[in-house]
Amino acid sequence: MARICDRFDDLGFDGLPRRLGIMGGTFDPVHIGHLACAEQAREAYGLDAVVFVPAGVPVFKKDRPITPAAERLAMCRLSVASNPAFDVSALEIERAGDTYTVDTLRELRAHYPGNVELFFITGADAVVHIVKWRESAAIADLARLIAVTRPGYALTDERKREIEELGAFDVSYLEVTALAISSSDLRNRVAEGRSIRYLTMQSVYDYVRERGLYRVPAPGGEA
Ligand code: NAP
Repeated sequence: MARICDRFDDLGFDGLPRRLGIMGGTFDPVHIGHLACAEQAREAYGLDAVVFVPAGVPVFKKDRPITPAAERLAMCRLSVASNPAFDVSALEIERAGDTYTVDTLRELRAHYPGNVELFFITGADAVVHIVKWRESAAIADLARLIAVTRPGYALTDERKREIEELGAFDVSYLEVTALAISSSDLRNRVAEGRSIRYLTMQSVYDYVRERGLYRVPAPGGEA
C-alpha cells in the first residue's frame, strides 16, 4: 500500500476510533497562521493527528506562478518537525495532473480503516467555492469540513446558508486570530525586501533566504 506520511501511516489499524485532520492548502509559503489553525483544529475537534497536504497543481491558481512543489513540501516538513501530532504528506504532489481534493480524500479513505474519521481543514475563502470543486458531493461524504476564518473575514450567516443550501456539506467554522497572516503578504514582504521573521517558523525563514525564494514580485503586482 502506498505510504501517506511518516508518522501516521498506521493510524487506526489498532481498531480504535481515530480522527485525522487533513490540512489542505497551497502553502506558498506555509506560515504560523497555518500552524496555529492546525493546532486549534486539533484541539477543538479532538484530532489525533493533522497531516499537511500541499497541493501539487492547484486548479484555481493558474493565473500566477506557484513555487515548485518540492520547495513548498520542504517548507511544510520543516514547519511540522517539532510537533509530534503533525506530519506532511506528498500524496498530492506525487499524483500527476491537477490537484483535486476528492482524489486525495479517496486515497486517504482507501488507505485508512473505517474507524478513522477524516476532517478536511482549509481556509473558509476556499470552502466558499466548494460547489465548483470536482465531485463536491462526494467530498461531503468522505470528510467533515473545517473552514478556518480570520477575524474580520468571517463569513456572513447568509453566505453560510448559501453553502448549506447548495449541498449536504457538513462545514464547521473555526476563527483563528493568527490567520490574519497570509502567504501572499509573506511573498510581498520578501519581494519588497521586508522581513518575514516570526511570521513563519525560523527554519522556513532560513530556507526562504538560503533558496532565494519570493525575491521577484509576481507579474501583475499581486504576489
Ligand atoms: P486559497 O484560495 O489560496 O486560500 C483561500 C484562503 O484560505 C486564503 O486566505 C488562504 O491563506 C487560506 N488557507 C488556505 N489553506 C489553508 C489552510 N489549510 N488553513 C487555513 N487557511 C488556509 O486556497 P488553495 O490553497 O488554493 O486551496 C485550499 C485547499 O482547497 C487545497 O487543499 C486545494 O487543493 C483545495 N481545493 C480543491 C479544489 C478542487 O478539488 N477542485 C479547488 C480549489 C481548492 P494563505 O494564502 O495564507 O494560505
